Amino acid sequence: MGLLLAAELALAGADVRVVERLLAEPANSMKAQGINVPTAEALDRRGLLPAAEKVHQEVLERIGSYGTGEGRFTGHFAGMALDPDLVDWADPDLAAHTAAEGARMVPQPQLEALLADHVARLGVPVHRGVEVIALDDTGDRVLVGTDTGSFETGWLVGCDGGHSAVRRLAGIDFPGTDPELTGYQAVADIADPEKLADGWTWTPRGVYRYGPQPGRVATVEFNSPPADRSTPITLDDVQAALRRISGTDVTLTALRATPTRWTDNTRQAATYRKGRVLLAGDAAHVHPPFGGQGLNLGVGDAMNLGWKLGAVIAGRAPEGLLDSYDVERRPLGAWVLDWTRAQIGVLRGDPKSGALREIVADLLSTRDGTTYAVKKVSGVTQRIELPGDHPLIGRYVPDVYLGDGSRLADHAHGGGFLLLDRTSDGAFARIGNGRVNVVTDAHETPAGLLVRPDGVVAWASDTDDAAGLEDALQRWVG
Ligand SMILES: Cc1cc2nc3c(=O)[nH]c(=O)nc-3n(C[C@H](O)[C@H](O)[C@H](O)COP(=O)(O)OP(=O)(O)OC[C@H]3O[C@@H](n4cnc5c(N)ncnc54)[C@H](O)[C@@H]3O)c2cc1C
Repeated sequence: MGLLLAAELALAGADVRVVERLLAEPANSMKAQGINVPTAEALDRRGLLPAAEKVHQEVLERIGSYGTGEGRFTGHFAGMALDPDLVDWADPDLAAHTAAEGARMVPQPQLEALLADHVARLGVPVHRGVEVIALDDTGDRVLVGTDTGSFETGWLVGCDGGHSAVRRLAGIDFPGTDPELTGYQAVADIADPEKLADGWTWTPRGVYRYGPQPGRVATVEFNSPPADRSTPITLDDVQAALRRISGTDVTLTALRATPTRWTDNTRQAATYRKGRVLLAGDAAHVHPPFGGQGLNLGVGDAMNLGWKLGAVIAGRAPEGLLDSYDVERRPLGAWVLDWTRAQIGVLRGDPKSGALREIVADLLSTRDGTTYAVKKVSGVTQRIELPGDHPLIGRYVPDVYLGDGSRLADHAHGGGFLLLDRTSDGAFARIGNGRVNVVTDAHETPAGLLVRPDGVVAWASDTDDAAGLEDALQRWVG
């Protein structure tokens, strides 16, 4: 998240640097395999869609059409694949967000590489091999101690993951529920893959998944959390878990990607901001990886915080604007925590969970059930509470195609607010000119939209009536 946030800050005109304790990213680390609609749309708005679509195509060529219907990515709930053929793709929420659909299969390492190029183009320095070990918020500066020296900064954002040193050093509590299970994910060479069943398999000892790519395995054992999450994961660890759960003597001969170990530690920071220190991404919330929400949640944090902190640093907005970051992002974080907790409840091997699983599977075999889950997983129904009655306010801006052949997203590459004016006499443009980027278009509905840099609609009108536009501009742009 640090890279994306740094890019957003740079676009907002801030002087920013990234410090990262690793000298290089671990090659091929197995974390997020895909991104949701708001993340794909965030890349689209910054001109990164073609690069993301290229990755998506490469992934599809590698794994085939798993999880896609009409070429669309659906995902799963607690290991139950959401059947794309059952989804009502004409549902208004889904139909409104298709322009960036071709960039959904972007695995985390490729996304990080894409963002690294993005920040490099923006001239943001990334200092690798530097670990933050101390901080002191003096009220008007933050003194940051690292293992290679110290520096001063106006603001510090901890994007340093679930074990965040910044969160700990700032004294921010991290309440939640304790871990109870151990999971592994790996891609391995398997001597006798016929001993494993394809897809998700429940046994009294846990759950494992084999596929969709050859050699890809995931395991979950519910009896205890990992003894030590910092020790390197070995081939023996993954093989032993797979053997225990499957009850076979399946043999792994090599690991082909850096495996990951995870648990259901589920927590949310007591506050996302304490003075001049803020948190984003896993530093602000951790949860099990089920349903593929963690990275997307962090991307949403970075997009929400970037323009706000940039505006405060530039003196365009009062510090109070930063409080809206926690207010707007906390409910989404809490929802993701519960969405993953629910999946653990359904996944367990005990008879009660098994009975619940039957019911959920039944619901997910219906058109309404699958459409509901796909809308949730894909993020198209995400909404934040903002003033105004128009149904688009607080939602991510839908696809908007303009008369000149461009899309509204094409006008957002530089960050900043966008005001779409489709009135016959340019009434909205007259109010927004000089304050925000104005895009005019032939008369059509919606007649006007004010879109924040994070893609959230701050104001909308279906008629030539500008009521509420000035208030929205005052509130967000000043
Ligand atoms: C097995 C697994 C599967 C997952 N699957 C999905 C999925 O399908 N979809 C999804 O959306 N999410 C998924 N996630 C979650 C996703 O990987 C995380 O939410 C995401 O990596 C969070 O990004 P982040 O930048 O906040 O933290 P991280 O990716 O943890 O990055 C933190 C960075 O900070 C650096 N750092 C840490 N401490 C310091 C310090 N003191 N000083 C300097 N640098 C420091 C670290 O080296 C690291 O580079 C999965 C996670 C796991 C483990």
